[in-house]
Amino acid sequence: MAYRTVNPYNNEVVKEYPFATDIQLGEALAESDATYRAMKKQPISERAKILHNVAAKLREHEDELAKACTIDMGKLIGESKGEVELVAIIADWFADHGEELLQPEEVDTIATGHAEIQKHATGVIMMVEPWNFPYYQIMRVFAPNFMVGNTMILKHAANTPASAQMFCDVVAESGAPKGSLTNLFLSYDQVGEAIADPRVQGVALTGSERGGTAVAEVAGKNLKKNTMELGGMDPFIVLGDANMDDVADIAWRARLYNTGQVCTSSKRFIVMDNVYDEFVDTLKDKFSKVQPGDPLDPATSAPMNTEKAKNKLQGQLDEAIAAGAKVEYGNEPIDLPGQFFKPTILTNISKSNPAYDTELFGPIACVYKVHSEQEAVDLANDNPYGLGGIVFAGDEDHGAEVASQIETGMVFVNNFMSTLPELPFGGVKLSGYGREMSHIGEEAFINQQLIVKTAKPNMDNLAGVLAAMDPQPKKMSKTK
Ligand code: NAP
Repeated sequence: MAYRTVNPYNNEVVKEYPFATDIQLGEALAESDATYRAMKKQPISERAKILHNVAAKLREHEDELAKACTIDMGKLIGESKGEVELVAIIADWFADHGEELLQPEEVDTIATGHAEIQKHATGVIMMVEPWNFPYYQIMRVFAPNFMVGNTMILKHAANTPASAQMFCDVVAESGAPKGSLTNLFLSYDQVGEAIADPRVQGVALTGSERGGTAVAEVAGKNLKKNTMELGGMDPFIVLGDANMDDVADIAWRARLYNTGQVCTSSKRFIVMDNVYDEFVDTLKDKFSKVQPGDPLDPATSAPMNTEKAKNKLQGQLDEAIAAGAKVEYGNEPIDLPGQFFKPTILTNISKSNPAYDTELFGPIACVYKVHSEQEAVDLANDNPYGLGGIVFAGDEDHGAEVASQIETGMVFVNNFMSTLPELPFGGVKLSGYGREMSHIGEEAFINQQLIVKTAKPNMDNLAGVLAAMDPQPKKMSKTK
């Protein structure tokens, strides 16, 4: 697939970008490795200053970054600006907390001496990212790894090349050493070659199960540590005593934000029978108020990111209907040249319907009626994915009890899902493994190196396994 910006609002081919050459990849690997080695000698506080500067520069360039993102992949301009502010918040948070998170941890041990785990950089990280949040996806990996001293090569999605390059240009303008983050328009084969290179020590991918499987296979073959942030079919559970005004306010946003193209979009609404009719009526009403138009105009709703994505979603919808799903709302063409998809509500989805366990990455809400909380939890968990979820309940503590029975990585009670640097992000099952952001994300690609130090060996106090190996063991005692 070629790297190019095609504005999904009007189908204009804005710019095409040539693939990187193998020579460019080789140079980038050498430069990233050299920068990693130089950063090892640099105090971490220096990088904190640079990362704060990255945040400031991102805010300074907010308008042009937001516009590039909207033209690359059609995101509503207000949402694009929100994304720029979010990435600045993430950069500031890791700049403020990274040093503290990377302090050595003392280990309480019976071994002789003082033991601690030091947290070191490991090398170059290969980053493979999707188009749906062109800046946020990069920052989730960049901020923690820059703080620890890892350097990164970015392969972004083929349809967001302008955003990818602009982000890396802002990082460079902020004073980050050359080689700390390099955007390259790589082919899939070149991504594999980079992963196999001994200087690359980690692979971070956000994307689909298809992309994740392919990249994880190469990473596994080369024994490279990797994190996989993959798809989701997040449940939105409405319990019988939920505040239905709050549900009405949040449910449509949880499905239609970013035109439904979010891994943590609420893709399955699981609603208790006593509030089901009210829920469906309100969702129809909210969906009917969406006004398609130019995403650079904040008063409209946005197209999908590409023609391919729209056609794929329409095919999935046709299959779902053929398998018995009922269209409660939508599934009509929109009379605009861009890649618009009318928000659609489906009910009557049987277990054998492909829509039951296939991710629909666009504005289609699947709604299920249930008759007990247990049925709601069982239905939520009867799914190959395990990323996020939302529970609406009259009592938030009870909502949290239900939430903890859901087999996903993140659940929010009585609110929209939010993503912030201090909150770990990631899933279980086919949604992937590892976590980005927070203290967990800070440690994704570090060497947790054990150092045990003592002034001199003390054979009398040898403990544990070593003492057990002594043919004439002495009395063991715990020493510090
Ligand atoms: P995708 O096709 O897997 O693409 C994601 C990235 O992987 C792109 O840069 C893509 O490059 C690259 N890629 C795909 N196959 C590859 C291969 N064999 N070798 C090297 N690189 C490869 O994902 P998508 O469909 O565009 O993105 C939407 C998916 O991402 C959804 O399933 C969504 O749920 C998931 N997602 C997950 C999270 C999360 O945090 N869990 C967040 C956002 C999105 P090209 O563009 O050149 O193909």
